[in-house]
This record gives sequence, structure tokens and C-alpha cells, in this order.
Amino acid sequence: MSAFKTYKTTCSYCGVGCGIIAKKDRRGVITVEGDPDHPVNRGMLCSKGMNLHHVVQDKEDRILYPEMRWSKEHARERVSWDQALDRAAKVFNTIIKKHGPDSVGFYVSGQCLTEEYYLVNKLTKGFIGTNNLDTNSRLCMSSAVVGYKQAFGEDSVPISYDDIELADCFMIAGANPAWCHPILYRRIEARKEKNPSTKIIVVDPRKTQSCDIADLHLQILPGTDVALYNAIAKRLIDRKKIDKSFIHGHTDNFNALKESVCSFSLTEYAKICGITVAEIKKAASYISNAKGFITLWAMGLNQSSIGVNKNNALINLSLLTGHIGKPGSGPFSLTGQPNAMGGREVGGMANLLAAHKDLANDHHRREVANFWGGKEISSKPGLTATEMFDALENGKLKAVWIICTNPLVSLPNANKVEKALKNAKFVVVQDISNRSETIEHADLVLPAAGWAEKEGTMTNSERRITYLDKVVDPPGEALPDVEILWRFARKMGYKGFDYNSAEEVYKEHCSLTKGTNIDISGLNYIRLKTEGSFQWPVPKNNHAGTERLFEDKKFYTDTGNAKFVVPKFIKPTSEICTEKYPLILTSGRIRDQWHTRTKTGKVNRLLTHIRDPYIEVNQVDAFLRKLNDGDIAIVESKRGKVRVRVKVCDTLNKGVVFMPIHWGKVFGNDYGRVNNLTTNIVDPMSKEPDFKFSAVQVSKYVKS
Ligand code: SF4
Repeated sequence: MSAFKTYKTTCSYCGVGCGIIAKKDRRGVITVEGDPDHPVNRGMLCSKGMNLHHVVQDKEDRILYPEMRWSKEHARERVSWDQALDRAAKVFNTIIKKHGPDSVGFYVSGQCLTEEYYLVNKLTKGFIGTNNLDTNSRLCMSSAVVGYKQAFGEDSVPISYDDIELADCFMIAGANPAWCHPILYRRIEARKEKNPSTKIIVVDPRKTQSCDIADLHLQILPGTDVALYNAIAKRLIDRKKIDKSFIHGHTDNFNALKESVCSFSLTEYAKICGITVAEIKKAASYISNAKGFITLWAMGLNQSSIGVNKNNALINLSLLTGHIGKPGSGPFSLTGQPNAMGGREVGGMANLLAAHKDLANDHHRREVANFWGGKEISSKPGLTATEMFDALENGKLKAVWIICTNPLVSLPNANKVEKALKNAKFVVVQDISNRSETIEHADLVLPAAGWAEKEGTMTNSERRITYLDKVVDPPGEALPDVEILWRFARKMGYKGFDYNSAEEVYKEHCSLTKGTNIDISGLNYIRLKTEGSFQWPVPKNNHAGTERLFEDKKFYTDTGNAKFVVPKFIKPTSEICTEKYPLILTSGRIRDQWHTRTKTGKVNRLLTHIRDPYIEVNQVDAFLRKLNDGDIAIVESKRGKVRVRVKVCDTLNKGVVFMPIHWGKVFGNDYGRVNNLTTNIVDPMSKEPDFKFSAVQVSKYVKS
């Protein structure tokens, strides 16, 4: 008998979705390695994935039992699952009866498994009767969802990672895959190594690690992306480097786009973006010479007050050049979280419906409601992430149930979020770790099973669904999230939650997708366990999955054509810098930490990269403020301040500073929590917050 038992699973960090083999020895000790057969990573793992087993094995910070407080004045005490869920059901039922279903909400996470996402969506929209179900994915990819819908008629990522090996021009825009999607970056790097004529354009106000492989780094001023993509579009049109036959046969609105983008000169565009005309021309020539052109983008585009416009302006470049629906080509939005895509499949956002059906469509709502057998589904979109916490603050929302996310650190304007949580009548936190700062405000804490302690599925950035096996039992009385949800639904008195396994939930989800554009009715756990991962749609049980969408050039719009969306603004509409707050703060991830560090923060090996929070300040801005490398600075915005160490750098333009997102309160104060500073401004269409543009001042910290 082997000394190990092996399990196939998926990394629980970023949207790349690397396959992992977890090995458990006879003592129950787990190790992980990259799955050599998984098509995404082919055996590779990055530093975070490689250290996942430490997170599972370190039980020190785990929540082991349900805890509840009887009133705000009392401390929480251990209770049984029945006591916890009876109380939750009683409070929710009472609030709903008194104030209506829109007085409660659920705030979940792109780290939830698809089955959990499906069930919380069914519970909220189909039975409680509110669409107040939103997710922290709102903070990372909701602008891309709207961008895709506007251009293609549906939220559909057209391409696959395998297209990387077929492309010869990449535009990496507002993303730092070298740190945030490392295995994907490794594949792009390998493509360039193998085919040195491959051109790589990086668009970013910061010179990041991803620029190491760039032929051209367009270091634009923050927020000016639309102007840049319009400038490139103009150059392509002027030089007749566009795919006329694709445009005329398969797109709508070209003339409007042409008129709009050609109304500025390249000199004007260059001035807006803070780059040269020569750089714009070079980017356009790389694209026009390419046989396969891929755009890849992430938070730099999405997290903006004009995030949707940025998405559409970039997608327009693929449409202009006909680089879509063919090998090595397409616009590719990278999801930050491991199952942001799965959440989109099940309609796990306040404005979406299950199986990519349309919440605004009466027929679709009726279809889903009939399938679930619950209440009529409301046509009113629910509260989005920031709206939900605004509503808690002003008292319109009375109770919130938070699953697998730490909004007190991750949402913008953290001091406002703190007020909201304090003001809430009832806060439930369902999580794995006591390291979440949000727990401080919970009336009810529910212990959830973590990665490797439950089974389920996730979908990565390229629509690839992978099964995650259960490797060990969860500690204490922790339960899989899916079970917590069905137990709660039964306590609420709802029918239709008589599940016994995650597999049953998945089966139901698959069958609801039948006949839709994301049809996965040909999938089931047996196929996923025995045949490996699949890219949706998978409409038949002998279907091998779909590598690429739109190969037939038929889009999901009413006309069947893709649409050129003419971006309405070319200038950022974010917070205005003033004499008091003259610098633009942008935030982002570092290589070895994940979100709010509740998992990666406890792995010593991951702390050797960067241990503490910091702010990057350009040399000139540092000189003007008498700041030296290593000094402690006070960073202040209209909303709050933080104390943080300075890194003087030459990777940012003057006037721009950068802070990582990962740290919350350290040592009991606000040291390092970047969201003390960030604005509440959101994109009006996607409601995604603008984390990339807050006006701040930086000054030397003087100990009083
Ligand atoms: Fe995990 Fe992403 Fe690293 Fe792959 S690239 S191992 S999915 S964190």
C-alpha cells in the first residue's frame, strides 16, 4: 500500500485555477504539488499555491464552534449549531416580516465554491424574495461583466489559456500577472522565449514586474486608458489596418466609433495619457502586424469610475482587427479570485440571475422561479457591495450575512464600513478564520470548512470547471458552507433544500443551465472526477467542452453581431486632486499575499517576500516631502489616514503613489489599511469601486 493517498483539487487563490495534487500520508499530514496533467499549469505552481498545505494544517486561528451573543452588550459564547441557526432564522424571519425582504442581505465571495454560490442565490432570490445578494467579486470584475455584455450580448470570455501559445502580440492592460497571475505570466513568458518576435505591450501607470518581458511599456497617467485605446483605434483606422470584412459582416456601430475616436488628434491623446505619439504609433504597429492578438486585463481597468468604458474601449481593438473567435486571439478579462467565474454562472450578484438569465426579463425570472419552486423573483436589482454597507449605515438594511470575505479590510472607505457594521441590527459571519477583522462585529459566527475540507467545483478565468476533492475533515464543528446554507434554509421553513450532498446541488445547477449559452447539462461530478476539467458550455454528456467562443462569428446580441460601444468619457471622473490632497493613490496586490492575509499572512515562507505594509513614493515627491526610504509616513485622504513605511521608487510617475491592499489593522491601530483612504466612487454601470484613484497627501510621521 502506498504511503500516501492522493487527491485532485484546484488552487484556492487566483483565477488562473491551477490543478493541484494533494497528498495525505498515514499520519494525515498533507503536502501539495502541481498537477502535471492539468491543462492550466502543467505541473507548475506559484509561491502561494505551493504553500497551500500550511494553511490547511495550521489550525491555530480556526473558528471551531458556532458562537453567538444575545445582545450587543454581551460577549459571544459557544452555542450548538441548532441554537445558532434557530436564532438566525428567528431574527431573519422577524426582520423580514416587519421590514420586508429587502431589509436583509447576503455578502459573499469569489472564493465560495459554485455549489455554495448557487445555493445562497437560490435562497436569497428565490425564497427570501430579495436580490440583496452581492459578492466581493463586485470589487474585481463587475466592470468586465458589463463590458462583455455590451459588446457580445452576454458575459462571455471568448478565449482559452491555450491561445497564449498561438498569439504573437499581447497587450497586458491594468494587470500585473507576474505577481497576481504568476502561472499565466509564466506561459506568456515561455511563448516569448519560444517565439522571440512576439510583442508584449504593458499598459500601467506603475512599472511592475510584468514590464520585465515588455517590448513597450505605456506608462499612462492613472485613469486615461480610454484615451489610449481610442488613440490606438484611430491610428489603426487612419492606417487602414482594420479587418473590414469582419467589421462589415459581424459588428454594429463602427461608424459611430470611428467618428468618436477620430475626433481627437494623436497629439491630443498623447497629452491626455502622458505618453508620446511615437509610443501610440508603436503599439498600433505591433497590433496591426500580429497574426494573433490577445488583450489581458484585470483590476487596473475594472476598478475605476469608468471601468466599463475602459473595458469596451479595449475590446474595440479586438473587434477592429477581427481578432476574436479564432486561434491565438481575443479579449481576455482575468478574474482575480478562483471562482469569480462560477459566481457569474449561478447569477451570484445583485443584478444577475442564475444560468446567465436576465433579471430584467419577466420570462427568465418566471422560468427560474418555477424551477426553484419558491417565490416570485423580484425584478428590482438588489444592493451591490458598497450599496449594501451604505444601507446598513443608514438603517435601511437591518441584517447582513457575510460569507468567506472580510469587508472591513477589503471594501473602500473602511471607516464607513466600520460604522455600517456597528449600526447593523444583526451581523452573521460565516468563515474559517478568526483572523478576519470583520468578526469583531459579528452577532453570530459560524465555523466553515476551508479548502481541502469539502468538495465542490470552481470555474477559472477561461471558463474551465474543475472538481475539488475533500482531503481532510474540517476541524471542530466546522461544516461545508453549502450545508450551513441548506440547514439555515430549512430552519427558515423553505421547501426545496433537502440536499444531502454538494453533488446534488451541482446537479440542480447544471440542469438549470440547459438550453442557455452556458449550458453545462452534460457535466456531472463523475465526469469531472474521471475525465478532468471542462470549459463551458458542455451541453451533452459526450461533449468535450468549448475551447473558444464565437468561432462561428455569431454573437449573443439581438442582431447576432458584436457591438462597438463608444466610450462616453475619455477623461477620468474620479476624485479631484487638490492642494491639500495632491497625490493620486492607487492600490494593488503583492506577489505572496492574498486578499486580507487571513490565509497567506500565517505562512512564514510567504512573509519572507514582503512582511509589512508600505507606500511607494516617486523620488521627486519623496524629495519634496523630505522623505527617505524606510521613513514612516502619514498618508491622509478626506476619509482617514494611515501610518506606513516609505519605499522611494522610480517605478511611478511623479504625483502617483501606490499601496498594497492586504493589511488591515496592525497592532490595534490603522497602520497599513489602505482602505482608510480610498473613495466610495463607483462605476455607474458596474457599481465597481474605483480603488485606483484617490486623492491623498503623504507627509513625514513625527512622533509626538
Ligand atoms: Fe494558485 Fe494562481 Fe498561483 Fe496558480 S497562479 S498556483 S491558481 S495563486
